[in-house]
Amino acid sequence: MFKRFSYRRRLFFYFFSIFLSFTIIILIFQYAREKQYRVSQLDNTLKIITETTHKFIENNDIYPNNLHKIDSLIKIIPQPDLRITIISNDGKVYYDNFVDDVEKMENHLNRPEVEGSVNNNYGTSIRKSTTTGQEYYYYSQSYNQYYIRTAVVYNIAIKNLLKAEHLFLLFIVFIFLIIWLIINFLTQKFGESITRLKEFVIRVRKNEPFETDYQFPRDELGTISNEIFNIYKQLVSTKNSLALEKEKLFNHLYVLNEGVAFFSNQKEKTLTNSHFIKYLNLISNQLIIEPEDFFKIDEFKPLIDFINQQIENTPHPKSGNLPRQEYLLNKSGKYFKIQCIIFHDKSFEIIITDITKLEKNRRIKQQMTSNIAHELKTPITSIKGFLETIINDPDIDKNTREHFIQRANAQASRLTDLINDIAILNKIEETGSYFVFNKLKINNLLDEILEEHHSLLEEKHMQVETDIDADVNVYGNESLISSIFRNLMGNSLNYAGNESKIEIKVYNDDDNYYYFSFSDNGIGIPDEHLPRIFERFYRIDSGRSRKLGGTGLGLAIVKNAVNLHKGEITVKNKPGGGVEFLFSLPKN
Ligand code: ADP
Repeated sequence: MFKRFSYRRRLFFYFFSIFLSFTIIILIFQYAREKQYRVSQLDNTLKIITETTHKFIENNDIYPNNLHKIDSLIKIIPQPDLRITIISNDGKVYYDNFVDDVEKMENHLNRPEVEGSVNNNYGTSIRKSTTTGQEYYYYSQSYNQYYIRTAVVYNIAIKNLLKAEHLFLLFIVFIFLIIWLIINFLTQKFGESITRLKEFVIRVRKNEPFETDYQFPRDELGTISNEIFNIYKQLVSTKNSLALEKEKLFNHLYVLNEGVAFFSNQKEKTLTNSHFIKYLNLISNQLIIEPEDFFKIDEFKPLIDFINQQIENTPHPKSGNLPRQEYLLNKSGKYFKIQCIIFHDKSFEIIITDITKLEKNRRIKQQMTSNIAHELKTPITSIKGFLETIINDPDIDKNTREHFIQRANAQASRLTDLINDIAILNKIEETGSYFVFNKLKINNLLDEILEEHHSLLEEKHMQVETDIDADVNVYGNESLISSIFRNLMGNSLNYAGNESKIEIKVYNDDDNYYYFSFSDNGIGIPDEHLPRIFERFYRIDSGRSRKLGGTGLGLAIVKNAVNLHKGEITVKNKPGGGVEFLFSLPKN
Protein backbone atom coordinates (compact mmCIF):
# COMPACT_ATOMS: atom_id res chain seq x y z
CA MET A 1 0.00 0.00 0.00
CA PHE A 2 2.85 2.35 0.93
CA LYS A 3 4.49 1.83 -2.39
CA ARG A 4 1.87 3.91 -4.11
CA PHE A 5 2.53 6.93 -1.88
CA SER A 6 5.43 9.25 -2.18
CA TYR A 7 8.01 9.35 0.58
CA ARG A 8 6.63 12.72 1.67
CA ARG A 9 3.09 11.34 2.06
CA ARG A 10 4.34 8.34 3.95
CA LEU A 11 6.35 10.56 6.28
CA PHE A 12 3.27 12.72 6.79
CA PHE A 13 1.15 9.68 7.47
CA TYR A 14 3.64 8.39 10.10
CA PHE A 15 3.82 11.70 11.90
CA PHE A 16 0.09 12.20 11.62
CA SER A 17 -0.75 8.78 13.09
CA ILE A 18 1.66 9.36 15.98
CA PHE A 19 0.08 12.67 16.72
CA LEU A 20 -3.47 11.27 16.35
CA SER A 21 -2.70 8.43 18.79
CA PHE A 22 -1.24 10.96 21.16
CA THR A 23 -4.41 13.10 20.93
CA ILE A 24 -6.68 10.07 21.50
CA ILE A 25 -4.63 9.05 24.57
CA ILE A 26 -4.96 12.58 25.96
CA LEU A 27 -8.72 12.50 25.35
CA ILE A 28 -9.11 9.11 27.07
CA PHE A 29 -7.04 10.29 29.98
CA GLN A 30 -9.04 13.49 30.20
CA TYR A 31 -12.28 11.51 30.05
CA ALA A 32 -11.18 9.25 32.92
CA ARG A 33 -10.18 12.24 34.99
CA GLU A 34 -13.46 13.96 34.28
CA LYS A 35 -15.40 10.87 35.24
CA GLN A 36 -13.55 10.61 38.52
CA TYR A 37 -14.09 14.27 39.18
CA ARG A 38 -17.80 13.93 38.46
CA VAL A 39 -18.10 10.96 40.78
CA SER A 40 -16.41 12.74 43.64
CA GLN A 41 -18.54 15.80 42.93
CA LEU A 42 -21.69 13.65 43.05
CA ASP A 43 -20.43 12.00 46.24
CA ASN A 44 -20.04 15.41 47.83
CA THR A 45 -23.41 16.69 46.67
CA LEU A 46 -25.22 13.54 47.79
CA LYS A 47 -23.36 13.53 51.14
CA ILE A 48 -24.54 17.09 51.83
CA ILE A 49 -28.11 16.18 50.82
CA THR A 50 -27.97 13.05 53.01
CA GLU A 51 -26.67 15.04 55.99
CA THR A 52 -29.32 17.71 55.41
CA THR A 53 -32.06 15.07 55.25
CA HIS A 54 -30.78 13.45 58.49
CA LYS A 55 -30.78 16.86 60.22
CA PHE A 56 -34.26 17.50 58.83
CA ILE A 57 -35.56 14.15 60.22
CA GLU A 58 -33.90 14.71 63.58
CA ASN A 59 -34.97 18.30 63.96
CA ASN A 60 -38.53 17.57 62.95
CA ASP A 61 -38.52 14.22 64.71
CA ILE A 62 -40.42 12.58 61.90
CA TYR A 63 -38.93 9.06 62.04
CA PRO A 64 -40.46 6.61 61.33
CA ASN A 65 -43.84 8.31 60.98
CA ASN A 66 -44.36 11.51 59.06
CA LEU A 67 -41.38 10.90 56.79
CA HIS A 68 -43.49 12.22 53.89
CA LYS A 69 -42.52 15.69 55.14
CA ILE A 70 -39.22 15.14 53.43
CA ASP A 71 -41.11 15.98 50.21
CA SER A 72 -41.03 19.63 51.19
CA LEU A 73 -37.26 19.39 51.71
CA ILE A 74 -36.74 17.88 48.28
CA LYS A 75 -38.67 20.73 46.77
CA ILE A 76 -36.21 23.29 48.04
CA ILE A 77 -33.07 21.28 47.08
CA PRO A 78 -31.94 22.47 43.60
CA GLN A 79 -30.72 19.01 42.51
CA PRO A 80 -33.02 17.72 39.75
CA ASP A 81 -34.30 14.14 39.71
CA LEU A 82 -33.21 13.68 43.29
CA ARG A 83 -34.40 10.47 44.92
CA ILE A 84 -34.32 10.02 48.67
CA THR A 85 -35.02 6.70 50.36
CA ILE A 86 -35.18 6.08 54.11
CA ILE A 87 -34.49 2.45 55.04
CA SER A 88 -34.70 1.05 58.54
CA ASN A 89 -31.75 -0.83 60.03
CA ASP A 90 -33.43 -4.11 59.14
CA GLY A 91 -33.87 -3.07 55.50
CA LYS A 92 -37.50 -2.04 55.44
CA VAL A 93 -38.19 0.99 53.22
CA TYR A 94 -40.06 3.72 55.13
CA TYR A 95 -39.82 6.47 52.65
CA ASP A 96 -39.03 6.88 48.94
CA ASN A 97 -40.05 10.03 47.12
CA PHE A 98 -40.18 8.11 43.78
CA VAL A 99 -42.53 5.43 45.17
CA ASP A 100 -46.01 6.01 46.64
CA ASP A 101 -46.61 2.62 48.16
CA VAL A 102 -43.40 1.93 50.08
CA GLU A 103 -45.04 -0.92 51.95
CA LYS A 104 -44.78 -3.03 48.83
CA MET A 105 -41.06 -2.42 48.33
CA GLU A 106 -38.77 -5.33 49.03
CA ASN A 107 -36.09 -5.40 51.68
CA HIS A 108 -33.26 -3.05 50.69
CA LEU A 109 -30.54 -4.35 52.99
CA ASN A 110 -28.92 -6.24 50.13
CA ARG A 111 -28.67 -3.17 47.93
CA PRO A 112 -24.91 -2.75 47.23
CA GLU A 113 -24.82 0.88 48.40
CA VAL A 114 -26.66 -0.03 51.62
CA GLU A 115 -24.44 -3.03 52.17
CA GLY A 116 -21.47 -0.74 51.61
CA SER A 117 -22.62 1.69 54.28
CA VAL A 118 -23.12 -1.07 56.91
CA ASN A 119 -19.47 -1.40 57.64
CA ASN A 120 -18.16 1.89 56.32
CA ASN A 121 -19.43 5.35 56.83
CA TYR A 122 -21.14 5.35 53.46
CA GLY A 123 -21.59 3.21 50.33
CA THR A 124 -22.12 4.01 46.68
CA SER A 125 -23.13 2.15 43.55
CA ILE A 126 -24.07 2.85 39.97
CA ARG A 127 -26.81 0.72 38.59
CA LYS A 128 -30.11 0.71 36.89
CA SER A 129 -33.08 1.35 39.07
CA THR A 130 -35.63 -1.46 38.98
CA THR A 131 -38.24 1.11 39.85
CA THR A 132 -37.51 3.77 37.14
CA GLY A 133 -35.40 1.80 34.65
CA GLN A 134 -32.82 4.66 34.63
CA GLU A 135 -29.20 4.47 35.65
CA TYR A 136 -28.64 6.03 39.03
CA TYR A 137 -25.79 6.97 41.19
CA TYR A 138 -26.69 5.82 44.70
CA TYR A 139 -25.22 7.12 47.88
CA SER A 140 -26.12 5.55 51.23
CA GLN A 141 -25.11 6.55 54.74
CA SER A 142 -25.93 4.73 57.95
CA TYR A 143 -27.35 6.47 61.05
CA ASN A 144 -28.42 5.05 64.42
CA GLN A 145 -31.91 3.99 63.41
CA TYR A 146 -31.89 4.07 59.67
CA TYR A 147 -30.03 4.41 56.43
CA ILE A 148 -30.51 7.43 54.24
CA ARG A 149 -30.03 6.70 50.59
CA THR A 150 -29.88 9.47 48.03
CA ALA A 151 -29.61 9.01 44.27
CA VAL A 152 -29.38 11.08 41.15
CA VAL A 153 -29.60 10.11 37.54
CA TYR A 154 -26.11 9.04 36.52
CA ASN A 155 -25.32 10.75 33.24
CA ILE A 156 -21.66 11.06 32.35
CA ALA A 157 -21.90 10.20 28.68
CA ILE A 158 -19.22 11.43 26.25
CA LYS A 159 -21.82 13.74 24.81
CA ASN A 160 -22.08 15.63 28.04
CA LEU A 161 -18.38 15.56 28.56
CA LEU A 162 -17.81 17.00 25.10
CA LYS A 163 -20.41 19.60 25.81
CA ALA A 164 -18.85 20.46 29.08
CA GLU A 165 -15.35 20.44 27.75
CA HIS A 166 -15.85 22.11 24.40
CA LEU A 167 -13.18 24.70 25.18
CA PHE A 168 -10.68 21.96 25.84
CA LEU A 169 -11.70 20.28 22.57
CA LEU A 170 -11.37 23.53 20.69
CA PHE A 171 -7.90 23.84 22.12
CA ILE A 172 -7.08 20.29 21.05
CA VAL A 173 -8.38 20.98 17.50
CA PHE A 174 -6.37 24.19 17.38
CA ILE A 175 -3.19 22.41 18.49
CA PHE A 176 -4.02 19.64 16.07
CA LEU A 177 -4.20 22.11 13.18
CA ILE A 178 -0.96 23.76 14.15
CA ILE A 179 0.79 20.40 14.50
CA TRP A 180 -0.74 19.35 11.18
CA LEU A 181 0.76 22.44 9.51
CA ILE A 182 4.15 21.82 11.14
CA ILE A 183 4.12 18.16 10.11
CA ASN A 184 3.12 19.18 6.62
CA PHE A 185 5.97 21.69 6.44
CA LEU A 186 8.53 19.27 7.88
CA THR A 187 7.54 16.37 5.66
CA GLN A 188 7.59 18.68 2.67
CA LYS A 189 11.11 19.75 3.60
CA PHE A 190 12.34 16.19 4.15
CA GLY A 191 10.36 14.94 1.20
CA GLU A 192 11.87 17.57 -1.10
CA SER A 193 15.38 16.11 -0.76
CA ILE A 194 14.06 12.64 -1.36
CA THR A 195 11.84 13.73 -4.27
CA ARG A 196 14.69 15.61 -5.93
CA LEU A 197 17.06 12.70 -5.39
CA LYS A 198 14.46 10.31 -6.78
CA GLU A 199 13.91 12.55 -9.79
CA PHE A 200 17.67 12.74 -10.35
CA VAL A 201 18.17 8.97 -10.03
CA ILE A 202 15.32 8.24 -12.47
CA ARG A 203 16.80 10.69 -14.99
CA VAL A 204 20.20 9.05 -14.66
CA ARG A 205 18.70 5.58 -15.10
CA LYS A 206 16.75 6.65 -18.18
CA ASN A 207 19.90 8.31 -19.51
CA GLU A 208 18.09 11.62 -19.74
CA PRO A 209 20.02 14.87 -19.45
CA PHE A 210 20.01 16.50 -16.01
CA GLU A 211 20.95 19.95 -14.80
CA THR A 212 24.67 20.21 -14.17
CA ASP A 213 23.91 22.16 -11.05
CA TYR A 214 21.29 20.24 -9.08
CA GLN A 215 20.30 22.15 -5.92
CA PHE A 216 19.28 20.11 -2.88
CA PRO A 217 17.83 21.56 0.37
CA ARG A 218 20.32 22.47 3.09
CA ASP A 219 19.64 19.60 5.48
CA GLU A 220 21.37 16.28 6.19
CA LEU A 221 19.44 14.55 3.45
CA GLY A 222 20.24 17.41 1.10
CA THR A 223 23.94 17.11 1.97
CA ILE A 224 23.87 13.37 1.33
CA SER A 225 22.02 13.97 -1.95
CA ASN A 226 24.54 16.63 -2.91
CA GLU A 227 27.38 14.23 -2.20
CA ILE A 228 25.70 11.50 -4.26
CA PHE A 229 25.21 14.02 -7.05
CA ASN A 230 28.86 15.11 -6.91
CA ILE A 231 30.06 11.51 -6.87
CA TYR A 232 27.85 10.86 -9.88
CA LYS A 233 29.23 13.94 -11.65
CA GLN A 234 32.77 12.70 -11.00
CA LEU A 235 31.74 9.29 -12.27
CA VAL A 236 30.34 10.80 -15.46
CA SER A 237 33.45 12.87 -16.04
CA THR A 238 35.68 9.82 -15.38
CA LYS A 239 33.48 7.81 -17.72
CA ASN A 240 33.78 10.51 -20.37
CA SER A 241 37.53 10.76 -20.12
CA LEU A 242 37.71 6.97 -20.18
CA ALA A 243 35.60 6.92 -23.33
CA LEU A 244 37.92 9.54 -24.82
CA GLU A 245 40.97 7.46 -23.94
CA LYS A 246 39.24 4.41 -25.39
CA GLU A 247 38.53 6.30 -28.59
CA LYS A 248 42.16 7.39 -28.76
CA LEU A 249 43.18 3.78 -28.30
CA PHE A 250 40.79 2.70 -31.07
CA ASN A 251 42.14 5.34 -33.41
CA HIS A 252 45.67 4.40 -32.48
CA LEU A 253 44.93 0.75 -33.23
CA TYR A 254 43.58 1.70 -36.64
CA VAL A 255 46.57 3.77 -37.68
CA LEU A 256 49.03 1.21 -36.39
CA ASN A 257 50.85 -0.89 -38.95
CA GLU A 258 50.61 -3.83 -36.63
CA GLY A 259 47.67 -6.19 -36.62
CA VAL A 260 46.38 -6.15 -33.06
CA ALA A 261 43.63 -8.22 -31.45
CA PHE A 262 42.51 -8.62 -27.84
CA PHE A 263 40.74 -11.80 -26.82
CA SER A 264 38.90 -12.81 -23.65
CA ASN A 265 40.02 -15.90 -21.74
CA GLN A 266 37.19 -17.68 -23.59
CA LYS A 267 39.05 -16.88 -26.84
CA GLU A 268 36.38 -14.41 -27.90
CA LYS A 269 37.42 -11.21 -29.61
CA THR A 270 37.09 -8.04 -27.54
CA LEU A 271 38.93 -5.58 -29.75
CA THR A 272 40.73 -5.83 -33.07
CA ASN A 273 41.92 -3.68 -35.96
CA SER A 274 41.61 -4.20 -39.71
CA HIS A 275 45.31 -4.99 -40.12
CA PHE A 276 44.85 -8.08 -37.99
CA ILE A 277 42.33 -9.59 -40.44
CA LYS A 278 44.50 -8.46 -43.37
CA TYR A 279 47.54 -10.27 -42.00
CA LEU A 280 45.52 -13.40 -41.15
CA ASN A 281 44.45 -13.51 -44.79
CA LEU A 282 47.99 -12.98 -46.03
CA ILE A 283 49.39 -15.71 -43.82
CA SER A 284 46.65 -18.35 -44.12
CA ASN A 285 45.90 -18.30 -47.90
CA GLN A 286 42.20 -18.75 -46.97
CA LEU A 287 39.44 -16.20 -46.77
CA ILE A 288 39.36 -15.06 -43.15
CA ILE A 289 36.66 -12.74 -41.85
CA GLU A 290 36.54 -13.38 -38.13
CA PRO A 291 39.46 -12.68 -35.78
CA GLU A 292 38.58 -15.92 -33.95
CA ASP A 293 39.71 -17.83 -37.08
CA PHE A 294 43.23 -17.18 -35.83
CA PHE A 295 42.88 -20.37 -33.79
CA LYS A 296 42.24 -22.46 -36.92
CA ILE A 297 45.38 -21.40 -38.81
CA ASP A 298 48.22 -23.94 -38.76
CA GLU A 299 50.92 -21.29 -39.09
CA PHE A 300 50.01 -19.99 -35.61
CA LYS A 301 50.20 -23.39 -33.92
CA PRO A 302 53.17 -22.52 -31.67
CA LEU A 303 51.26 -19.53 -30.30
CA ILE A 304 47.91 -21.35 -30.05
CA ASP A 305 49.62 -24.12 -28.02
CA PHE A 306 51.18 -21.50 -25.76
CA ILE A 307 47.82 -19.74 -25.24
CA ASN A 308 46.02 -23.02 -24.46
CA GLN A 309 48.67 -24.01 -21.98
CA GLN A 310 48.55 -20.61 -20.27
CA ILE A 311 44.75 -20.58 -20.04
CA GLU A 312 44.39 -24.14 -18.75
CA ASN A 313 47.32 -24.94 -16.54
CA THR A 314 49.23 -22.20 -14.85
CA PRO A 315 47.93 -20.01 -12.04
CA HIS A 316 46.99 -16.44 -12.86
CA PRO A 317 49.96 -14.44 -14.10
CA LYS A 318 51.27 -11.67 -11.88
CA SER A 319 51.26 -8.15 -13.28
CA GLY A 320 54.78 -7.00 -14.10
CA ASN A 321 55.70 -10.52 -15.14
CA LEU A 322 53.15 -11.28 -17.84
CA PRO A 323 53.86 -14.39 -19.91
CA ARG A 324 54.71 -13.57 -23.50
CA GLN A 325 55.77 -15.48 -26.55
CA GLU A 326 57.03 -14.37 -29.94
CA TYR A 327 58.37 -15.96 -33.11
CA LEU A 328 59.15 -15.12 -36.73
CA LEU A 329 57.06 -16.35 -39.61
CA ASN A 330 58.14 -16.36 -43.26
CA LYS A 331 55.25 -16.59 -45.68
CA SER A 332 55.17 -15.85 -49.43
CA GLY A 333 58.36 -13.80 -49.29
CA LYS A 334 57.09 -11.75 -46.36
CA TYR A 335 58.31 -11.81 -42.80
CA PHE A 336 56.00 -11.48 -39.81
CA LYS A 337 56.70 -11.17 -36.10
CA ILE A 338 53.93 -12.89 -34.12
CA GLN A 339 53.68 -11.88 -30.46
CA CYS A 340 51.32 -12.77 -27.65
CA ILE A 341 50.91 -11.38 -24.15
CA ILE A 342 48.77 -13.12 -21.53
CA PHE A 343 47.17 -10.72 -19.07
CA HIS A 344 46.34 -11.14 -15.42
CA ASP A 345 42.76 -12.37 -16.07
CA LYS A 346 44.07 -14.72 -18.77
CA SER A 347 42.67 -12.59 -21.52
CA PHE A 348 45.37 -12.04 -24.12
CA GLU A 349 46.65 -9.85 -26.91
CA ILE A 350 48.04 -10.98 -30.25
CA ILE A 351 50.22 -8.66 -32.31
CA ILE A 352 51.24 -9.39 -35.88
CA THR A 353 53.93 -7.11 -37.31
CA ASP A 354 54.99 -7.10 -40.94
CA ILE A 355 58.75 -6.88 -40.65
CA THR A 356 59.45 -7.68 -44.30
CA LYS A 357 61.05 -4.29 -44.93
CA LEU A 358 63.06 -4.45 -41.73
CA GLU A 359 64.09 -8.02 -42.39
CA LYS A 360 65.04 -7.21 -45.99
CA ASN A 361 67.01 -4.18 -44.82
CA ARG A 362 68.72 -6.35 -42.26
CA ARG A 363 69.64 -8.89 -44.93
CA ILE A 364 70.81 -6.15 -47.32
CA LYS A 365 72.95 -4.64 -44.58
CA GLN A 366 74.35 -8.05 -43.76
CA GLN A 367 75.18 -8.63 -47.41
CA MET A 368 76.50 -5.10 -47.75
CA THR A 369 78.87 -5.62 -44.82
CA SER A 370 80.24 -8.81 -46.29
CA ASN A 371 80.49 -7.13 -49.73
CA ILE A 372 82.32 -4.17 -48.26
CA ALA A 373 84.73 -6.50 -46.47
CA HIS A 374 85.29 -8.29 -49.74
CA GLU A 375 85.75 -5.05 -51.71
CA LEU A 376 88.20 -3.65 -49.18
CA LYS A 377 90.24 -6.81 -49.13
CA THR A 378 91.47 -6.47 -52.74
CA PRO A 379 92.93 -2.93 -52.61
CA ILE A 380 94.30 -3.44 -49.11
CA THR A 381 96.02 -6.70 -50.11
CA SER A 382 97.50 -4.93 -53.15
CA ILE A 383 98.72 -1.94 -51.13
CA LYS A 384 100.18 -4.28 -48.50
CA GLY A 385 101.89 -6.32 -51.26
CA PHE A 386 103.48 -3.28 -52.89
CA LEU A 387 104.64 -1.83 -49.60
CA GLU A 388 106.07 -5.20 -48.38
CA THR A 389 108.00 -5.60 -51.60
CA ILE A 390 109.52 -2.13 -51.18
CA ILE A 391 110.34 -2.78 -47.52
CA ASN A 392 111.78 -6.27 -48.08
CA ASP A 393 113.88 -5.27 -51.03
CA PRO A 394 115.75 -2.06 -50.22
CA ASP A 395 117.91 -2.42 -53.33
CA ILE A 396 115.00 -2.32 -55.70
CA ASP A 397 115.65 0.00 -58.58
CA LYS A 398 114.20 3.46 -58.54
CA ASN A 399 111.81 3.01 -61.47
CA THR A 400 110.29 -0.20 -60.08
CA ARG A 401 109.93 1.39 -56.64
CA GLU A 402 108.24 4.41 -58.27
CA HIS A 403 105.92 2.05 -60.15
CA PHE A 404 105.00 0.17 -56.97
CA ILE A 405 104.35 3.36 -55.09
CA GLN A 406 102.07 4.65 -57.85
CA ARG A 407 100.18 1.33 -57.92
CA ALA A 408 99.75 1.48 -54.15
CA ASN A 409 98.56 5.05 -54.46
CA ALA A 410 96.04 4.07 -57.14
CA GLN A 411 94.68 1.34 -54.86
CA ALA A 412 94.49 3.86 -52.01
CA SER A 413 92.43 6.14 -54.30
CA ARG A 414 90.15 3.17 -55.07
CA LEU A 415 89.74 2.66 -51.36
CA THR A 416 88.88 6.34 -50.95
CA ASP A 417 86.34 6.13 -53.80
CA LEU A 418 84.82 3.02 -52.28
CA ILE A 419 84.56 4.57 -48.86
CA ASN A 420 83.13 7.79 -50.34
CA ASP A 421 80.49 5.82 -52.24
CA ILE A 422 79.55 3.80 -49.14
CA ALA A 423 79.35 7.04 -47.17
CA ILE A 424 77.03 8.64 -49.78
CA LEU A 425 74.72 5.59 -49.82
CA ASN A 426 74.60 5.49 -46.04
CA LYS A 427 73.88 9.17 -45.86
CA ILE A 428 71.00 8.86 -48.36
CA GLU A 429 69.53 5.94 -46.44
CA GLU A 430 70.02 7.05 -42.86
CA THR A 431 69.69 10.82 -43.02
CA GLY A 432 67.89 11.41 -46.33
CA SER A 433 65.65 14.10 -44.89
CA TYR A 434 68.62 16.23 -43.79
CA PHE A 435 69.84 16.97 -47.36
CA VAL A 436 69.39 20.62 -48.28
CA PHE A 437 67.21 21.12 -51.39
CA ASN A 438 67.60 24.03 -53.81
CA LYS A 439 66.56 25.12 -57.25
CA LEU A 440 69.29 23.80 -59.58
CA LYS A 441 69.92 24.76 -63.17
CA ILE A 442 70.69 21.43 -64.84
CA ASN A 443 72.67 22.99 -67.70
CA ASN A 444 75.09 24.55 -65.22
CA LEU A 445 75.64 21.22 -63.44
CA LEU A 446 76.21 19.42 -66.75
CA ASP A 447 78.67 22.08 -67.92
CA GLU A 448 80.74 21.48 -64.80
CA ILE A 449 80.71 17.70 -65.22
CA LEU A 450 81.64 17.95 -68.89
CA GLU A 451 84.46 20.27 -67.97
CA GLU A 452 85.75 17.69 -65.44
CA HIS A 453 85.65 14.87 -68.00
CA HIS A 454 86.81 17.00 -70.91
CA SER A 455 90.25 15.43 -71.40
CA LEU A 456 89.03 11.85 -70.96
CA LEU A 457 86.24 12.41 -73.47
CA GLU A 458 88.78 13.72 -75.94
CA GLU A 459 91.14 10.88 -75.24
CA LYS A 460 88.40 8.36 -76.01
CA HIS A 461 87.10 10.36 -78.94
CA MET A 462 83.68 10.47 -77.39
CA GLN A 463 81.00 13.07 -77.99
CA VAL A 464 78.34 14.39 -75.66
CA GLU A 465 75.11 15.82 -77.01
CA THR A 466 72.79 17.67 -74.62
CA ASP A 467 69.25 18.82 -75.40
CA ILE A 468 68.08 20.63 -72.32
CA ASP A 469 66.35 24.01 -72.33
CA ALA A 470 68.04 26.80 -70.40
CA ASP A 471 65.04 27.13 -68.04
CA VAL A 472 65.11 23.52 -66.84
CA ASN A 473 65.52 23.76 -63.10
CA VAL A 474 65.10 20.84 -60.76
CA TYR A 475 64.45 21.11 -57.08
CA GLY A 476 67.06 18.96 -55.38
CA ASN A 477 70.28 18.51 -53.50
CA GLU A 478 73.18 19.80 -55.57
CA SER A 479 75.75 17.17 -54.67
CA LEU A 480 73.30 14.25 -55.16
CA ILE A 481 71.93 15.51 -58.49
CA SER A 482 75.55 16.03 -59.65
CA SER A 483 76.48 12.53 -58.54
CA ILE A 484 73.57 11.11 -60.65
CA PHE A 485 74.96 12.65 -63.85
CA ARG A 486 78.59 12.13 -62.82
CA ASN A 487 78.09 8.39 -62.22
CA LEU A 488 76.16 7.88 -65.46
CA MET A 489 78.80 9.84 -67.37
CA GLY A 490 81.59 7.82 -65.68
CA ASN A 491 79.91 4.53 -66.62
CA SER A 492 79.50 5.55 -70.25
CA LEU A 493 83.15 6.60 -70.30
CA ASN A 494 84.18 3.30 -68.78
CA TYR A 495 82.00 0.83 -70.61
CA ALA A 496 80.49 2.32 -73.79
CA GLY A 497 83.75 2.21 -75.67
CA ASN A 498 85.83 4.59 -77.72
CA GLU A 499 84.19 6.86 -80.22
CA SER A 500 80.79 6.33 -78.72
CA LYS A 501 78.28 9.09 -78.24
CA ILE A 502 76.47 10.21 -75.13
CA GLU A 503 73.02 11.86 -75.32
CA ILE A 504 71.47 13.74 -72.46
CA LYS A 505 67.97 15.23 -72.89
CA VAL A 506 64.66 16.13 -71.25
CA TYR A 507 62.17 14.02 -73.22
CA ASN A 508 59.04 15.04 -71.33
CA ASP A 509 57.72 17.08 -68.42
CA ASP A 510 54.51 17.53 -66.45
CA ASP A 511 53.35 19.70 -63.55
CA ASN A 512 55.73 18.10 -61.11
CA TYR A 513 58.55 16.36 -62.94
CA TYR A 514 61.12 16.61 -65.70
CA TYR A 515 61.76 13.30 -67.46
CA PHE A 516 65.43 12.83 -68.40
CA SER A 517 67.05 10.41 -70.78
CA PHE A 518 70.77 9.57 -70.44
CA SER A 519 72.04 7.19 -73.11
CA ASP A 520 75.08 6.08 -75.03
CA ASN A 521 75.48 3.97 -78.14
CA GLY A 522 78.10 1.69 -76.63
CA ILE A 523 78.11 -2.04 -75.93
CA GLY A 524 74.95 -1.92 -73.77
CA ILE A 525 74.13 -4.30 -70.94
CA PRO A 526 73.02 -7.90 -71.59
CA ASP A 527 69.24 -8.09 -70.94
CA GLU A 528 69.51 -10.74 -68.20
CA HIS A 529 71.56 -8.31 -66.09
CA LEU A 530 69.22 -5.36 -66.45
CA PRO A 531 66.87 -6.23 -63.54
CA ARG A 532 69.77 -6.32 -61.05
CA ILE A 533 71.93 -3.52 -62.37
CA PHE A 534 70.95 -1.08 -59.61
CA GLU A 535 71.89 -3.50 -56.79
CA ARG A 536 74.89 -2.66 -54.67
CA PHE A 537 78.13 -4.23 -55.87
CA TYR A 538 76.37 -5.81 -58.82
CA ARG A 539 78.67 -5.85 -61.78
CA ILE A 540 78.58 -7.61 -65.15
CA ASP A 541 82.32 -8.13 -65.22
CA SER A 542 83.85 -7.56 -61.79
CA GLY A 543 87.45 -7.77 -62.99
CA ARG A 544 86.91 -5.19 -65.69
CA SER A 545 84.94 -2.90 -63.41
CA ARG A 546 87.64 -3.02 -60.74
CA LYS A 547 90.37 -2.41 -63.27
CA LEU A 548 88.49 0.66 -64.40
CA GLY A 549 88.21 1.88 -60.83
CA GLY A 550 84.53 0.99 -60.48
CA THR A 551 83.19 0.36 -57.01
CA GLY A 552 80.01 -1.41 -58.11
CA LEU A 553 78.03 1.21 -56.19
CA GLY A 554 77.64 3.87 -58.89
CA LEU A 555 74.18 2.84 -60.16
CA ALA A 556 72.97 2.07 -56.58
CA ILE A 557 73.86 5.66 -55.68
CA VAL A 558 72.06 6.92 -58.82
CA LYS A 559 68.88 4.98 -58.00
CA ASN A 560 68.87 6.00 -54.34
CA ALA A 561 69.51 9.65 -55.20
CA VAL A 562 66.63 9.65 -57.74
CA ASN A 563 64.32 7.95 -55.22
CA LEU A 564 65.26 10.43 -52.50
CA HIS A 565 63.97 13.15 -54.85
CA LYS A 566 60.75 11.13 -55.20
CA GLY A 567 61.65 10.32 -58.78
CA GLU A 568 61.86 6.96 -60.58
CA ILE A 569 64.55 5.37 -62.72
CA THR A 570 64.51 2.57 -65.31
CA VAL A 571 67.11 1.20 -67.70
CA LYS A 572 66.84 -0.39 -71.13
CA ASN A 573 68.99 -1.25 -74.08
CA LYS A 574 68.53 0.87 -77.14
CA PRO A 575 67.49 -0.92 -80.35
CA GLY A 576 70.53 0.35 -82.19
CA GLY A 577 72.92 -0.58 -79.34
CA GLY A 578 73.90 1.12 -76.15
CA VAL A 579 72.12 1.67 -72.88
CA GLU A 580 69.49 4.26 -71.97
CA PHE A 581 68.61 5.40 -68.45
CA LEU A 582 65.21 7.13 -68.06
CA PHE A 583 64.60 9.00 -64.81
CA SER A 584 62.45 11.75 -63.37
CA LEU A 585 63.45 14.66 -61.11
CA PRO A 586 61.10 17.09 -59.40
CA LYS A 587 60.39 20.61 -60.59
CA ASN A 588 59.60 21.91 -57.14
P1 ADP B 1 80.80 0.12 -61.44
O1 ADP B 1 81.45 0.76 -60.31
O2 ADP B 1 81.19 -1.25 -61.64
O3 ADP B 1 80.71 0.94 -62.59
P2 ADP B 1 77.99 0.57 -61.45
O4 ADP B 1 76.93 0.31 -60.41
O5 ADP B 1 78.15 2.00 -61.81
O6 ADP B 1 79.30 -0.05 -60.91
O7 ADP B 1 77.65 -0.23 -62.70
C1 ADP B 1 77.35 -1.57 -62.58
C2 ADP B 1 77.71 -2.31 -63.84
O8 ADP B 1 76.82 -1.93 -64.89
C3 ADP B 1 79.05 -1.99 -64.31
O9 ADP B 1 79.99 -2.85 -63.78
C4 ADP B 1 78.92 -2.22 -65.79
O10 ADP B 1 79.19 -3.57 -66.14
C5 ADP B 1 77.49 -1.96 -66.13
N1 ADP B 1 77.28 -0.65 -66.82
C6 ADP B 1 76.96 0.49 -66.23
N2 ADP B 1 76.81 1.48 -67.12
C7 ADP B 1 77.05 0.95 -68.32
C8 ADP B 1 77.08 1.46 -69.63
N3 ADP B 1 76.82 2.74 -69.91
N4 ADP B 1 77.38 0.60 -70.64
C9 ADP B 1 77.65 -0.67 -70.38
N5 ADP B 1 77.64 -1.22 -69.15
C10 ADP B 1 77.36 -0.42 -68.12
